[in-house]
Amino acid sequence: MVLPATGFLPQIRHIFDIFGYSFSGRYVNTGKFYMQEKNNLNSPVRYIKGVGPKKSEYLARIGLNTVEDILYYLPKRYEDRSSVTAIKDLKPGGSMTIQGEITSLNSRAGRSGAAIFQAAVSDTTGSIQAVWFNQPYIGDLLKVGDKLILYGKVEIYDKLQMVQPEYEIIEGPETDSVNIGRIVPIYSLAAQLTQRFLRSLTFKAIAEHVKFATERLPTYIIARQKLVDIKFALRNIHFPSNFEMLEKAYKRIVFGEFFILQLALAIRKKGRGPEEAAFGHSMAPGELSGAFKKALPFELTEGQKKAVAEIERDMSAARPMNRLLEGDVGSGKTVVAAHALVLAAQNGFQSVIMAPTEVLARQHFIYLSELLMPLGINVVLLIGGMDANARGRIYSEIKDAKADIVVGTHAIIQEAVEFKNLGLVVIDEQHKFGVAERAILGKKGLNPHVLIMTATPIPRTLALTVYGDLDISTIKELPKGRKPIATYWVEEDKRDQMYGFVGEELARGRQAYVVCPLIESHRRGGNVENDMSPRRCTTAVETFNKLKNEVFADYGVGLLHGKMSSKEKDKVMKDFKKGKIDLLVSTVVIEVGIDIPNASVMMIENADRFGLSQLHQLRGRIGRGGYESYCILLADPKTDAAAERLKAIEGTLDGFEIAETDMDLRGPGEMFGTRQHGLPEIRFGNLAKDFGIMELARREAFALIEKDPGLLEEHHQLLKKSLYERFRGRLELAKVG
Ligand code: ADP
Ligand code: MG
Repeated sequence: MVLPATGFLPQIRHIFDIFGYSFSGRYVNTGKFYMQEKNNLNSPVRYIKGVGPKKSEYLARIGLNTVEDILYYLPKRYEDRSSVTAIKDLKPGGSMTIQGEITSLNSRAGRSGAAIFQAAVSDTTGSIQAVWFNQPYIGDLLKVGDKLILYGKVEIYDKLQMVQPEYEIIEGPETDSVNIGRIVPIYSLAAQLTQRFLRSLTFKAIAEHVKFATERLPTYIIARQKLVDIKFALRNIHFPSNFEMLEKAYKRIVFGEFFILQLALAIRKKGRGPEEAAFGHSMAPGELSGAFKKALPFELTEGQKKAVAEIERDMSAARPMNRLLEGDVGSGKTVVAAHALVLAAQNGFQSVIMAPTEVLARQHFIYLSELLMPLGINVVLLIGGMDANARGRIYSEIKDAKADIVVGTHAIIQEAVEFKNLGLVVIDEQHKFGVAERAILGKKGLNPHVLIMTATPIPRTLALTVYGDLDISTIKELPKGRKPIATYWVEEDKRDQMYGFVGEELARGRQAYVVCPLIESHRRGGNVENDMSPRRCTTAVETFNKLKNEVFADYGVGLLHGKMSSKEKDKVMKDFKKGKIDLLVSTVVIEVGIDIPNASVMMIENADRFGLSQLHQLRGRIGRGGYESYCILLADPKTDAAAERLKAIEGTLDGFEIAETDMDLRGPGEMFGTRQHGLPEIRFGNLAKDFGIMELARREAFALIEKDPGLLEEHHQLLKKSLYERFRGRLELAKVG
């Protein structure tokens, strides 16, 4: 994206430079900006007493090089050792801390063959057994006579026991206030480092250096949000005087982190206005839009109406729309997008709609052609695998603006497609894309209205992060007349019964999906279409053969997977739509967008191998007509966690709930592919849990940028510095749009 040379607030340019928009030295270096703060937080860890060359090498392995690194290496959890309990006072139930000496050790095999290791620990008041299961190495670490602190759950079997306790060997009776008699931090460690060492190191670092930490948040925000000062926060995040202080410390640190992120987003959003106003793709609804609305076979839901109104308002303004349209599977986003496409066409602009798969692009093409060609709007399809002639013809139609709407895969924008007057880009199922597409548009110097659609309900915190610079429309309800999908998790031994059930639905004239995790078996060099371990599992090709030849020989059975040619896929989808195929065996290629209202059953093989959000997406392929619909999850899960996930999907149809659970279980990075989405690294906060803090940070950051867009005010200077340090050339997000 090239910034115009004039007509743009220089301060904002300055900040854009921070993000790597143009690092060509076009801005004036104020000097102030680069000034190194003179304090010793940047001193190497060696400067802390007790850290020699060996120790600093170990610390470096977990990324701890400076004093500041130590201060910001936050505990992963805490143990409440604020009171040591005398052994005679132990009671079953809670977790407690004791201090004592090992008087005997023994290990034996338990009933299931697992190793059980026991240590008798005594203090002056009594003795208790500490028990560890399945930790054979523990025998090498403990010996009779060791003095130790134990922290763990007290349970009663024959006698009182402490089960799987955390332990720490100590030199003598512990009087040191770092490790005992307080809420104690527990850090993630690497080999050669112990909790005790890191804890005392951090303790020293705080005692000697925390006074140099500078508060970068403006005083008025600290006051308004009732935040604690950064020095207090750093002290209490490591060595909290009580849990209330810990919570305050955590809030301050996470707020600080989220605030900088939101500041960056606010600046981008603000910056876009003046820059893009010049393009003036202002579009007004008129006759064509009216005709289109009349021709629709159904009434829009309230959510759809609202989204359409928001889009029309955006598109008629003098600056480009940047809107995310969020709605659960089946909520009817396509028809909302069609409103935007018509609006563009009506005003003489071309548009593209991009889909993540060819199958989906074709489906959109068919749908939009049927809907819009009668209105005199020319829709073309552009996907890979077209022959050179056809492609050449379409390229020139696009170039001459004979094509009003181009439907295709995202390859469209990566290739050398030249538009005459592109006014609108619709990106469907954005979670399948990187934000890269938006970036590419920018690089091409195009500045159309952008509508991004996603059916993966983005957990709310993440929406404020990844898409934090966009406006958001949400469709909350499904169209009237939908029957909720009944979901059942059943085990393998019920398979035949389930086939019987599917057969009944087919006999009623319904259609069905059977989804498999793999295309072919690995032995034949099969292809994984999903992120899975090589454990043996059901393949689409085998299932297809079996169902076609044995189980459903009387019905039309089809096969669809990613390794088929476009032509083949196309034919299969057409046949399924027409009803020539009754039962479609497929891989996750049908995960997004496919719309066959007559399909009422879906059987998912090895369902435990799919992610939660993925299962929800898959399930969204059914329940689209007015029929009772059934989703059958076939799985014999191997772990409790997998069983939990199946129960979760069985228990709710609410995509938002599922997305939040999913993020909780897997973490946002894995769920969305951190790099792919330009999701900035979050070090302190928890995207699954800290929505409230993110919201506050967002409100403050956006208000601040509204008031001081260039960050020129004196009390914002340190923030500017933080922004620079945090995002210099790294925040991919910021380049996008
Ligand atoms: P998604 O939001 O998952 O992309 P689609 O746009 O594919 O959903 O719509 C799902 C189905 O619902 C389509 O068959 C569409 O024609 C239908 N549909 C959309 N809006 C309505 C409505 N307001 N009333 C009835 N059916 C609708
Ligand atoms: Mg869709």
